Amino acid sequence: MDLDKVIRKVPDFPKPGIMFYDVTSIFTNPRAFQHVVDKMEEIYKDDQIDGIVSIESRGFLLGAPFALKRAIPLVLARKKGKLPGKTVKQNYTLEYGEATLEIQISDITPNKNWLIIDDLIATGGTLEAVARMIEKQGSKVAGIFSIIGLPFLNYMDKIARFNPVTLVDYQGE
Ligand code: AMP
Repeated sequence: MDLDKVIRKVPDFPKPGIMFYDVTSIFTNPRAFQHVVDKMEEIYKDDQIDGIVSIESRGFLLGAPFALKRAIPLVLARKKGKLPGKTVKQNYTLEYGEATLEIQISDITPNKNWLIIDDLIATGGTLEAVARMIEKQGSKVAGIFSIIGLPFLNYMDKIARFNPVTLVDYQGE
């Protein structure tokens, strides 16, 4: 399965100069979607993972089948203001401006090993924010999984210690 052929590339979205790698073309292709989930199972088969933290919104779609297969909890990291009850919050820097993600505190049990899942790693800021929330709650990051990596944006500077794994990497133009 050549995922590169399946991933839709949209130039100049959401603004000029950005190549947008659209993984929704994997979700509409059951063979490709199955391939990604099979890969995740294979990569982490020997790892102790107690739960998944997936990131809104495309991360949810990858975290769900994997968590069910492994029969482990699936926790959602959501954009500010979406989750009820007590949450842990983390601000992070986007290309322009700031954003905040939140996780429900009661979901992150201390001293567990969490795999963080998103669709794409660009600067790594989003994943680093989620890793920080997990650590703030006294728990551990077992790894980071993403379909796509953009290593030219130097995400390793931020998240190397969390062992990020990607299936397809793209270089800048
Ligand atoms: P970052 O925090 O810089 O690693 O950005 C990662 C988040 O932004 C992920 O949730 C991606 O879905 C989204 N993202 C950033 N750049 C792109 C891109 N070129 N194509 C598709 N999604 C992107």
